[in-house]
Amino acid sequence: MLQYPNLEQALKYHFGYDRFRPGQRQIIEDALQNRDLLVVMPTGGGKSLCFQLPALLKKGLTVVVSPLIALMQDQVEGLRNNNISATFLNSSLNAYQVRSREEAILAGKVKLLYVAPERLLSERFLPFLDLINHQMGISTFAIDEAHCVSEWGHDFRPEYRQLRSVRKRYPNVPTLALTATATDRVRSDIIQQLGLKQPSIHIASFNRQNLYYEVRGKTKYAYAELLELIRETSGAVIVYCLTRKKVEELTFKLQKDKISALSYHAGLPDEERSKNQTRFIRDDVRVMVATIAFGMGINKPDVRLVVHFDIPRNLESYYQESGRAGRDGEPSRCTIFFSFGDIKTIEWSIDQKTDPQEQLIAKQQLRQMIDYAEGTDCRRTIQLSYFGERFAGNCGNCDNCRYPKPMQDWTIEAMKFLSCVARCKERFGMLHIIDVLRGGKSQKIIQNEHDKLSTYGIGKDRTVDEWRILGRSLLHQGLLEQTTDGYSVLKLNALSWEVMRRQRTVSLAVPTVQKITWEEGSEKAADAELLMQRLRSLRKQLADEQSVAPYVVFQDSTLKLMAQVQPRNLTEFAKLSGVGSHKLAQYGEKFLAEIRAYRQEQGLIDPPDNSQPMVRNTLPSDTELATLLLYQRGLSVEEIAQKRNFRPTTIIRHLEDLIAKNQPVDINQLVPLEKQKKIWQVLEVLGDIALTPIREQLGENYSYDEIRLVRGKWRREKGK
Ligand code: ADP
Ligand code: ZN
Repeated sequence: MLQYPNLEQALKYHFGYDRFRPGQRQIIEDALQNRDLLVVMPTGGGKSLCFQLPALLKKGLTVVVSPLIALMQDQVEGLRNNNISATFLNSSLNAYQVRSREEAILAGKVKLLYVAPERLLSERFLPFLDLINHQMGISTFAIDEAHCVSEWGHDFRPEYRQLRSVRKRYPNVPTLALTATATDRVRSDIIQQLGLKQPSIHIASFNRQNLYYEVRGKTKYAYAELLELIRETSGAVIVYCLTRKKVEELTFKLQKDKISALSYHAGLPDEERSKNQTRFIRDDVRVMVATIAFGMGINKPDVRLVVHFDIPRNLESYYQESGRAGRDGEPSRCTIFFSFGDIKTIEWSIDQKTDPQEQLIAKQQLRQMIDYAEGTDCRRTIQLSYFGERFAGNCGNCDNCRYPKPMQDWTIEAMKFLSCVARCKERFGMLHIIDVLRGGKSQKIIQNEHDKLSTYGIGKDRTVDEWRILGRSLLHQGLLEQTTDGYSVLKLNALSWEVMRRQRTVSLAVPTVQKITWEEGSEKAADAELLMQRLRSLRKQLADEQSVAPYVVFQDSTLKLMAQVQPRNLTEFAKLSGVGSHKLAQYGEKFLAEIRAYRQEQGLIDPPDNSQPMVRNTLPSDTELATLLLYQRGLSVEEIAQKRNFRPTTIIRHLEDLIAKNQPVDINQLVPLEKQKKIWQVLEVLGDIALTPIREQLGENYSYDEIRLVRGKWRREKGK
């Protein structure tokens, strides 16, 4: 096991992050103790790190079971960009590739292996696992998307059931199961089906603090609002629609409005779908208009806006779908456009179901969805209560908290509405009632002589939408009924009469028109935004060179920090969250150059750079000077040691101190440049600690002497 001064340093070194997300540290500690674990965290909570970091710290190979090829590739790419040896085996590889990967595994060159469940369980693979277990040991089985084991989840996969047999075969290898599914039933299923032994269970809060939730009325301006939303969002956008047809129409419209958008739905040929998906992930196209077929297994962490242009089917799917926004923890927005017309469509499709039980559940779920959309409480409170989590409300990050809708007394209007229903003899639907109230001249009105009713035209002061909101709300509050025979005829009940007799008041949260005010920018923010654009395009260029997604190079949060902090040298750069040792070496100079160029163009003058070499006042000691003199005559370390009757290590120590004291010792003669760079990186990350952990980090190719010498130079530059 590698020795780290602490877990935080390991985190920084390998992944570049400064601190653990809630729960991660405890889970990792448990994993290091070889405990079985069940980890339930919402999307974006940072589950992967919970097995990735232990995999690096433990002996042997960690086997990760993952259901989707795209997910595996994504994760492995991301890991490789942090110089972590990970690989996957799946059906996308040819026999030759499989063999060479297996060889690398047996040679001990791999720490994380991703496989699909069916491969893991295949007859050819099990003996290979035995061999691994025998030669280097399997440190953990990590079961990603563990809810696939449960029939109660939304994504049951029978192969997952058999994972239990692997557990039996290797009883001493701990299993770590991970899922984002929130329900109790699925959780207990996972524990049972996977045969977890006294697992340590970690359930994170499902509150996604960085997401802003809002619901807007789907008025005739909805498309214009959508366009504005997309235009003011910088970053990737997903727009969900209910049907393929709507997807295609909307894509077409957006493209005509010069938005870079593509479609995704089950009706497209496989090839086109996966091409569109890749283009979205790589930021070649900004907006994906899709049916809910899109999104499963997409790891893109920097989606900034998820719009449901049609109402989602139920709250659980809404939570999952909207949860694809802002996985990286950066502020992101989730918007629903809500209309009663859409509900009609969904109700109709529910009515097509043949199983009455299914119908009932679907209707109930739709109701909850409508309650959410119409709700005036904090949206978080509503969502979290659905998952059995209590939330105090007032989150400050949803429309209801930011723009509380005033409750208004609509008793008079309710009385008008209900008596109109009565006068029409409870034989008509909502639209007709509203038409009568507003004094319409439709044939239906004339035929039925409804223009002669006392309630005809008494509601001209309210719009159709307002009456509809009222009618709908009366239904929700149980103050009015509606037949379920498909005609939705309005019927009065006892409560309706209470309202009409003024024994009951009716309040309504009336939506006020809200101007979109999102992310008010200051001048400093505008400045950072300019630089951000340059950094983004540099990132895109570097990503394209390697054919990976831009976020694999650096995540948005790291770019933002770069733009804010504007580091001037590698030392400052290394401190940014998201910059680990490998990325520092790989990309540091390039991004610094971009920042420098930007600052120069903007005429920004750099204050003196404190991290520039500082001349130390301390003078060399006599014995160090003696070594220096011999060194300057061109003697090797061994020769000096012999001549002065010291051990070579002592001479190295002299040289280290001489370098630190800014004396003319050319380190390039002593340590190859490549090695210097690598040692420097490790020092940047781990700091001035004992040599042993530094050496362990670097590996046996590096000698203590070499580390000492570079440390001398490093100390000089840090002014230590
Ligand atoms: P999940 O699998 O739970 O949906 P991921 O493991 O994909 O989430 O992590 C979500 C995002 O958060 C990733 O982009 C990941 O790099 C980032 N992340 C994970 N842990 C941390 C951390 N400690 N600090 C900062 N970012 C993190
Ligand atoms: Zn709120």
